[in-house]
Amino acid sequence: MTRTDPYEALGVPREASADEIKSAYRRLARKYHPDVNPGDPSAEEKFKEIGQAYAILSDPEKRARFDRFGSVDDLPDNPFAGGGVQFSDLFDMFFGGGGADFGGSRGRSTAVDGEDLQAHVVLQLADVLQGVEQTVSYRRLRTCADCGGNGAEGGATPDRCTACQGTGMVSQVRNTFIGSVRTTTTCPTCNGRGYTIKNPCRACRATGLVEEQTSTTIRIPPGVETGQTLHVAGRGNEGLRGGHAGDLYVVLNVADDKRFERHGRELVTRLEISIAEAALGAKITVDGLDDDLELDVPAGTQPGEVFTIRGAGLPPLHGGARGNLRVRVSVAIPKKLNDEQRKLLMEFARACGEEPKEPEGGGLLGGLFRRRR
Ligand SMILES: [Zn+2]
Ligand SMILES: [Zn+2]
Repeated sequence: MTRTDPYEALGVPREASADEIKSAYRRLARKYHPDVNPGDPSAEEKFKEIGQAYAILSDPEKRARFDRFGSVDDLPDNPFAGGGVQFSDLFDMFFGGGGADFGGSRGRSTAVDGEDLQAHVVLQLADVLQGVEQTVSYRRLRTCADCGGNGAEGGATPDRCTACQGTGMVSQVRNTFIGSVRTTTTCPTCNGRGYTIKNPCRACRATGLVEEQTSTTIRIPPGVETGQTLHVAGRGNEGLRGGHAGDLYVVLNVADDKRFERHGRELVTRLEISIAEAALGAKITVDGLDDDLELDVPAGTQPGEVFTIRGAGLPPLHGGARGNLRVRVSVAIPKKLNDEQRKLLMEFARACGEEPKEPEGGGLLGGLFRRRR
């Protein structure tokens, strides 16, 4: 890419008005237009340069930025550095689209890029810890092997399109403010392919593409969440006539794990302990995501209390320190007592200053009926 001061390129002073810039551009565009200078690459280069200069100076914001920084190199999105303003955009700006044919053989490419595709994978919650490699199966369009993608039976050489002489483009002359300009559009006879097909390929119905079941193995990083997407470049539908393949977007779905509730990096689990464990305290083994964990339940633990085991949760995306596991405790009340247990519990109640009443029928049902009377 040329790097030039846009004022210099258009030959205007820094304080030039918008009209002065416009008329300087018109004058130079007429002079250097490739139709006026066929086969002269330096004229084409110059034509590009003035187009780029005009793109900056005709845009008050860009012009102000250039003025402030003094050098195109310092421009945050420097159109001279490539990637900014495309020549074709500029041309469209002046000539109303349709691209430009500069009298050479540079017809528009008939390449068609393949579409992007989407696939879904399900992974287990435990896979989120270390990440996992998974194979994704999906259907995509690939170049037809029978015709090599040209759509003609057996890959026979198709007939050159007579409407466009095989260029895929047809030209027309349009009158614009810089004079007559030839613009080109896609050939309607061959849809831009440059050829017509007498015997269409049966395998692909002359489309050049066939559907296939394919698979690709992807590396899922640690810490992912449901709904996140991985991008696999070039694994979408294949293109035609040299077009690029599309990309594959893999949508992740982390399966629910009955044991855990997930809140980002934090996991929540439930732990049921007995009355005695709650009252006396205990060391309890908790079922962690990847390992058994020891939890010290202190004496006097209440139902619903939550304990935190640090670092037993999930890592952030792409790995790092794991979040915490929170353990919500419930206390199991025995639904059935045998004689000894009942005796001891009643003793316990009396030791607490209560006056427990022996249920008449004994057991839970008797207790219920008595309470309801
Ligand atoms: Zn085919
Ligand atoms: Zn044609």
